[in-house]
Formats: sequence, C-alpha cells, structure tokens
Amino acid sequence: MNPFSFPIAVFVIDADGRIQSWNKACEKLSGFGADDIRNSQLDDIIAGAGEAGREAIQYDRDGDVDATLTRKDGSTLPVHVTTARHVLDRAHPDTYSVIVIPKEGEKSPPASQQMIQDAPLLDIIEGLPCVFYVIDQSGHLLLWNHRLEDALEMTGDEVPLLNVSHFFDEKQRPEIKQKILEAFETGSSSHEAVLVGLHGKRTPFLFNCARMSLGSIPCVFGTGLDISAQKETELRLRVRERAMYSSVNAIMITCCKSGDNLIEYVNPAFENLTGYTLAEIKGRDPRFMQVVGFDEEERGRIRQALTRRESVHAIVRNAKKNGEIFWNELRIDPVINMDGTVTHYVGVIDDITLERQYERRLQHLANHDPLTGLANRTLLQEKVQLSMLFAQRNNALMAVAFLDLDNFKFINDNYGHEVGDAVLKEVATRLSHNVREEDTVARLGGDEFVLVSTSQPSIGHVADLMERVRVGVGAPVHVNGKDVIPGVSIGVSMYPRDGDSVDRLMRAADAAMYHAKTTGRNNCQFYSEELNKTVHEHLSLKARLSRAIQGGELFVGYQPKVDLHTGAVIGAEALVRWNDPENGVVSPEKFIPVAEETGLIIQLGEWVLRRACSTLRELQEQGFPDFTISVNLSARQLREADFVQRLAAMMASHHLLPGSLELEVTESHLMEDPEKAVEALTQLKHLGVRLSIDDFGTGYSSLSYLQKFPVDNIKIDRTFLREVGWGQRDTVIAKAIISLGHNLNLIVIAEGVETLEQLRFLREYECDQMQGFYFSAALSKQQLNKVITSNVHLHS
Ligand code: C2E
Ligand code: CA
Ligand code: CA
Repeated sequence: MNPFSFPIAVFVIDADGRIQSWNKACEKLSGFGADDIRNSQLDDIIAGAGEAGREAIQYDRDGDVDATLTRKDGSTLPVHVTTARHVLDRAHPDTYSVIVIPKEGEKSPPASQQMIQDAPLLDIIEGLPCVFYVIDQSGHLLLWNHRLEDALEMTGDEVPLLNVSHFFDEKQRPEIKQKILEAFETGSSSHEAVLVGLHGKRTPFLFNCARMSLGSIPCVFGTGLDISAQKETELRLRVRERAMYSSVNAIMITCCKSGDNLIEYVNPAFENLTGYTLAEIKGRDPRFMQVVGFDEEERGRIRQALTRRESVHAIVRNAKKNGEIFWNELRIDPVINMDGTVTHYVGVIDDITLERQYERRLQHLANHDPLTGLANRTLLQEKVQLSMLFAQRNNALMAVAFLDLDNFKFINDNYGHEVGDAVLKEVATRLSHNVREEDTVARLGGDEFVLVSTSQPSIGHVADLMERVRVGVGAPVHVNGKDVIPGVSIGVSMYPRDGDSVDRLMRAADAAMYHAKTTGRNNCQFYSEELNKTVHEHLSLKARLSRAIQGGELFVGYQPKVDLHTGAVIGAEALVRWNDPENGVVSPEKFIPVAEETGLIIQLGEWVLRRACSTLRELQEQGFPDFTISVNLSARQLREADFVQRLAAMMASHHLLPGSLELEVTESHLMEDPEKAVEALTQLKHLGVRLSIDDFGTGYSSLSYLQKFPVDNIKIDRTFLREVGWGQRDTVIAKAIISLGHNLNLIVIAEGVETLEQLRFLREYECDQMQGFYFSAALSKQQLNKVITSNVHLHS
C-alpha cells in the first residue's frame, strides 16, 4: 500500500501543461475544488512541476522533479512530481500523467483532509490474498498493496516512480504493455507473467485486470495471483510427461469410466513395441491385445488386483499388430484421486521375449539330455509327479517303464562310441515315436531310458504298449554299414498299484527292469511284491557279499574228478563256498551272478585262484605232481587287461608244475565274443594252464570256433545227464557231445553224475572223466587230501 494518502494524486495534462483531468486525491491533497482545478495550468498549483512535464515531452521519458504544491489555504507542501506520457492511450498520445507524491516527512495531509472514509476499502485491499494494483494510462501505479511491494522487493516510495513494465523482464515488456492496453481498450484482460524483484526475486503471477475510472482518470485495476506453486507442479508434470514420453519402457495409461477401463495414452516406446499408434487404440479396452487361451492364471491375478485397486506385477503374452506374440512383464498401478476412487491405471510394459527365449533355452539345457534331446533325470522327476497327479485326478493308471539296452557295452566296445551314440539316438527316436504326446521319454544316461505313460485304461494296454516298444526298439539299427541289434530289457511299475511317490515308482520300475535282465534279457517285466522281495534280497546280498570277501566268510570246496577208465581221482574242481553268519551257506548260483554284476568277482576270483594254487602246491610237495585243480573263471576276469600277467605271477610264486592248473570258462561266455576269447585263451595256454569249456551244450558254439579255441577239455552240462536212464532226447545230446569232443581230440568230462545209470551210460559211450555226487560232493581241503592219500577209487 502506498504510504501516502489514498489514492495517489494524479493530474492529467496536455502537451501545453493544461490540466485535463484529475482524481479526488488531487482535490484532497491541494484543497482545491473541481472548479478551481479545471482549466488551470499545472504550474499554477505545483510550482516547478512544468519542468518535469517539459522533460517528459522533450525526451519522451518519465520526468522527475521536486516541486512545491501550494494549497488553496495558502500552505505549501514539498512534493515529488513524476510526469509520464500516456503510453497506454492510443487515442490521446500527447497526454501526460502528473503523479504528485508528498515528500518524506510530509506524508499526512492536514487532519481535516484525512480520508477516513476510504479506510475500510484500504483495509480490504491490504487484506487481499493477492497482489492488487491500479495503473493509470501512463503505466504508473496509483494504488497497490504490500503484496506487490514484497514481490518487487521495493518500498512504497519506489513503487510509483517506475512504469509498471519495468517490473518485468525486458523481453516480456511489450506483451505486458499490450495486455494493459487491451484492458484499457476492451475493458479487461488477463495474462501470466513473472514479476522481477529489485534483487532478482522472480514470482509468476496470473494477472486479471479491468478498466475503471478514478475520478475522471481512466485506470486499470487488477489482481495478481501468485502461481508459483502451480507453475512448479506444472513443471514437474512436464518433466514427468517428458520422461514418460522418452521412456524405453512401453507405458500405457487407461482411464476408468463407468466400469470400463479404456486406453487414454500410450508412449512412443509402446507404439514401437506393439506397432499400434496411440490414435489407433485410444479409447479401446487394452485386453484386445491378449492372446486368447494363454496365461489365464496370470490374467486372473491382474483382474483380481484391479478389482481390489492394488498394484500388480504379472508376466503375460500379448499380440502385436502384426500378430507376433511377445512376452511382457507388466506392472500396473492404480491412480487414486482425493476421494479414493481410481481414475486411471498406469501400466509399464517390458518386452521380455528375448529373456524368455534365453531362459527357455537354459531351461531346456538344464532339463534335457544333450545327446538325444530327451528329458533328463530332473525333468523326468517332475513329469512323473505331474503324471501321477493327473492319473489321481482322473482315476486313471499311469506307467513308469525303465528300459536298458542289453548289449550296449558290447556295441560301444566293438564298434566304437560313434556307433554307440548313433544307436542311442536311434533308440530315442523310436521311443518317442511309440508314445503319445502327453507321455514322456527320458534318458538317464548311458543306455538307460525311462518312459512315462499317462492315463492308461488298463494294465493290458500298458503291456501292449511295452511289447510294441520292445519290438520297435529291438529292430536292427543300421550304422556305418553294420546292422546292430539293440535288444532291450524293460521293467514297468504302475501307479497307484506299485507306489504313490515318484521315488517308489522309479525304484519299482528299476527293480522290474533288473528282473527282466536276469530272466534272459530282451523282455518286459512288471513289478510285483514278490519281485520286490527278490530285488530286496539281491540288494542286501550285494552288501553282505562285499563284506564276506573281506571278512573271511568264503572258503573253497574241492569236488573230486575221477578217471572213468581207471576209477582213480585225478583232479578236483575248486568251488567257492560262502558261509554267511546271518543266513548260513549261500549257493554260488545266487552270489556269483551278484559278484559278476558288481565287479566283486575280480577280487573273489583271484582269491579262489590263490587258494587253489596253494592247495596244488601242497599236493605237489606231498608227491602228487599229476593232480590237477580246475578253477572257474568269470568272463569278467578274462576281460581284465592284466589277468594273464597276474596269473603268471601267481603261478610262479607258487612254483606250480605246468599243466596242474586248469581253468573253466563257460561256453556262453566264450561265445559272447569268440574272437577275443580265442586271443585270451591262447595267451593263457602259453602259461601252461589247461583249459575247459564249462557247461558245454547250453550255449550255441559254432563248430568253426570250437576248433579254434585252444582248449583241452569240454564239460557236458549236467542237464544232459538228467534224463539218462529214461531214454530221452537229452541222452542223444550227451552222446553227440562225447563224440564231438573226441573228434576234436578233447577230453570229455561229465559233471553232475548222481546215479549208477548215468555212470554206466558214460562208460558205455566212453566219456573220459566224471564228477558228481555219485562219487563225491565238494570236499574240504583236508577231506580231499585224505581221498588222495588213501587212494580212494571209483568202483568199476
Ligand atoms: P559249475 O562250474 O557247473 O559247478 C558245478 C556245480 O555242480 C557246483 O555247484 C557243484 O556243487 C554242482 N554239482 C556237483 N556234482 C553234482 C551232482 O551230482 N548233482 C548236482 N545236482 N549238482 C552237482 P555249485 O558249487 O553250487 O556252483 C555253481 C556254479 O557256481 C558253478 O557251476 C560255477 O559256475 C559257479 N562257481 C562256483 N565256484 C566258482 C568260482 O570260484 N568262480 C566262479 N567264477 N564261478 C564259480
Ligand atoms: Ca565248473
Ligand atoms: Ca558246469
């Protein structure tokens, strides 16, 4: 508020200094009435004011002088006079405002002239929460409130001296002038502008002004609303809008209106990502992009969150404009207004298609066998679990089948790994072709495959499927010009019958597969409780056996061999025995296969050999140089690379006479790989050991190989003697074997001789040697020693 009277006294003069109009303040300040003032010269009232007028006219700028006002009552008042051209009056450009301000210390006019009646209005103006101003046509302020002074950082003395355009940046001044002029001419105007304080303070205002008259002086009055806060918000919004516009993430804003949720804005990144422009999709429901039938669960979650007005983070697939499907990681946040209603949703979309693809590849790698592309153990477990749940829900059966190739090791060893790999791949393909899409085929490594078949109507169906698989997989594979036949043993477990956990089902299938292996391979076995017991026994046997070898539970029995011509005991077969402290004597028929399977046979076989050597040594020292002991040899021992050397060392350390040690190898073992067998046997022969083909007649020897094996004896398998005395077919075989042996210059030994008939039969057909319960079962070393030393004979 100006510190003077209200309002400031303004005379309007023409270029000749004649007073044209004035305001009430002039009358109050000078004490003159309207009649006194009208047509007076300004100089008549304010001595020296003409000076300022001339300056203003001559230089066209505001003229300032100190002058003296003489009141009607003759008293004088020192005043400051500012004369300014009416730049805001286009009709009368040669008109001037003379603004008269009493000088410091002379602020109050005489008491009688106090403008008491104006006080309430003053108070109102002062109390306004905004800037208030009155401007005359020269552009000078006649009235204002303290808020304006604050913004301008000026005192009340300074404010009226300047043209208001000086309160603004120079660049803005023409516009300011234009706006005030507009108010003078049209009655009102409004504009935003920044007031610049004396010390640089800048405050944005929204000015609204209107025309009025103060006395006969046209003025513009108005208010200025401080809009700093709005401006700041606006700026912040603009920054944010800009950020959203430039964001690399696709952004979508939807607007909630009467239950609908429609697109209001999408940013350029969204347009780039999807191929849709804002113009195209504005006003549409964003769900138009979803891919029907996918991600139902995630979308359900989104819907739920939206109804609860919560933020949600989801990963769904959407379709681009060109139909391409992309993965998007979506974050949706509600925008809630003051009364708590959601007005908008902001969605930020990240295209994670590449990540997804990469993730999938990694996942594929983690879950699949690299050679065949089949599921691996990890994925298999998951699939069995799922398949089990499915079967449970649908009251269906489900089958887990373990498949193991019968001769993969042989294929690998003989044809090389490349062929082995090709066979595995082919088997994988065949398996996959034999099952439905919802089924799973996995490879556990090596030559072990697993097939999971979901939802089977009956066990009969499963059996049919397995037979198809067995035949399909077992067909010859043609690789590198060879036909390889990958026989397969299959074990099957069923849900729910054989177990209700992944682990149980897998173990049951494994057990059944093991059973299939032991029952002749290339067949399929279903799991059963009984089988489980067998398998269980087998497993415990395995554990106990390894203990037995170290723990001295094994011993060797010697079954005497008799010369059928002389009846003399000429040798013995070493047969391993196991006295299990828990279960008593265990038959080698039971534990030898286990020892072979586990590899314990190497240790065990060497142990028996050593015992046999030492017994032989003792007998030789006792003076029986021709006595022979035969030891059974497992195929696995024979395959050991250093077996021949080890045996040589052992024989040497016992100082054995050549020809006293005999080794028995079964016919079927030899025929597994006859060429290798010829090689191995030849080496053994060089050591001076005698060789027998054991269990002869049970394998499928070809005559040509028989001739090549450097062996001394063949042993007729005891099954061929069983029917002797009954006149059956087998006797024919026994006869044939005897004559075959003789034709090949081999000694023929009959084993398992239990009866006199058998003995007579053998003698009749000139078999060379025999062993069997008829003469003696296996004996301890001491017993054997007695038999030899006391020269026991077989009766003739
Ligand atoms: P094998 O080599 O055919 O041994 C002969 C088997 O016939 C022995 O059974 C013997 O006790 C049995 N036997 C002898 N005379 C008669 C008879 O008159 N009637 C009947 N029914 N059986 C008779 P065992 O000792 O149970 O051995 C079974 C198989 O275990 C052996 O068959 C052999 O293949 C294997 N075996 C035994 N000891 C060893 C060993 O130290 N090393 C290896 N690798 N295998 C062994
Ligand atoms: Ca034998
Ligand atoms: Ca035998």
